[in-house]
Amino acid sequence: MFAWKDSWLAKGRTAFSMCSGVGTAEAARAVLAKTVGSDPVHEHPFEMDMRTEINPACHQILLDNHAWCNEACGRSDPLPHMFGDTLDLTSARFAASHCYAQKRRRVLGAAMMPVTKCKSHKSLLGCPLPDAHFGCSGLPCTDMSAAGLRQKKEGPTNAVYMSHGRFVEARRELDMDMAQDVHPQYDLYQLFLDPSDTGHGGAARPRTYVIASRIGKTSCKQDPFDLLEAVRRVTRRTQTVPGDYCLADTFEVNLEAMHVANQRNLEWSPGGENEELDLRSLLLKREQDALNYYEDMYLARFQRPAAMDRNLMVYLGDNPWSRPCWSACSGAIPTLRVGSRSGKMWIPALRRWLVSREKLAAMGWPITRQAAQAMMCPEVPVRDIMRSAQLAGAAMHFNTVALAQMLALSCFGPLDL
Ligand SMILES: [Zn+2]
Repeated sequence: MFAWKDSWLAKGRTAFSMCSGVGTAEAARAVLAKTVGSDPVHEHPFEMDMRTEINPACHQILLDNHAWCNEACGRSDPLPHMFGDTLDLTSARFAASHCYAQKRRRVLGAAMMPVTKCKSHKSLLGCPLPDAHFGCSGLPCTDMSAAGLRQKKEGPTNAVYMSHGRFVEARRELDMDMAQDVHPQYDLYQLFLDPSDTGHGGAARPRTYVIASRIGKTSCKQDPFDLLEAVRRVTRRTQTVPGDYCLADTFEVNLEAMHVANQRNLEWSPGGENEELDLRSLLLKREQDALNYYEDMYLARFQRPAAMDRNLMVYLGDNPWSRPCWSACSGAIPTLRVGSRSGKMWIPALRRWLVSREKLAAMGWPITRQAAQAMMCPEVPVRDIMRSAQLAGAAMHFNTVALAQMLALSCFGPLDL
């Protein structure tokens, strides 16, 4: 009988991440650590060792994230190394015009860099690349996405996949042939996860996660697909609905309304605490037309006004005429495609859009006291609407990435046991 104490969940010491959704993977693992560590017999030993993040705008948020992770699991782990471009981790050099096969040959034949410039430690020489027992990375989805050009392995982001193969959140269209091709030292197990697997049925965000098990160092101790089914048998009993995420107070909605009014050079007077809000006047003409279209379509299909459905959300950042993007049929807040950072997810029943903190709630982040208590972690502070928007625009679904890591870490362990 396999015991979890033989798994990477108990044996892992060091971890790395590339493009982890502004620290979603690390924060989710901290919650996992705290949950496992709350059993006095088993102390969860993971400490973060290394991250890569190419966007300098994300560095401060990752530093804050590290402090939050330490608080969440009651530890004082040192600052992780923070390297920049994933492609700088190997000695491979190539031009954008190189084809897939040329890049693959260069990356797989390249040496790892002995030291790399590190934004955390700022040593002139750079920091040495550490070994890691475990990694969790959201690899670029632009070449895999249905919204993109579907260039897959010939797309410009392919080199990142290859660099990763030297040492995996993606959309469902991940090119598994390429993943296997650039990870020759790994056995791959592909899982299809959705927020409903964690009880967040009110938000749609289907993703594929690939567990890559290093041949010769790691082995599969129990079937991750069986464990996933066991989890689903529990989580399918209770599911959220879109209206559960409408938790912003009047002050917060007014802050976002004023910000948008400033951006769009429109007049806006914040109402009082007890005044009914209506942000329709802040919509652009294109957004108002889209909203009218959705309301007419809802009335025709369901024979009642859209405003009566508290779980109805319609996306105004895209073109509803060609492809409606709403919760009316699926019962879940749709995954955003075009302009997800600035596009408005409108709630007809509340005459306003979903504010950034609510988007984070729909992504499973512990941004309310109740959610934080249930997840046994501190609340993530996101009262600042700009900070909140930055997080919501780049984050992964918190609970889904926690589930994926739990499956990988508990079903796999060191081979020499
Ligand atoms: Zn460093």
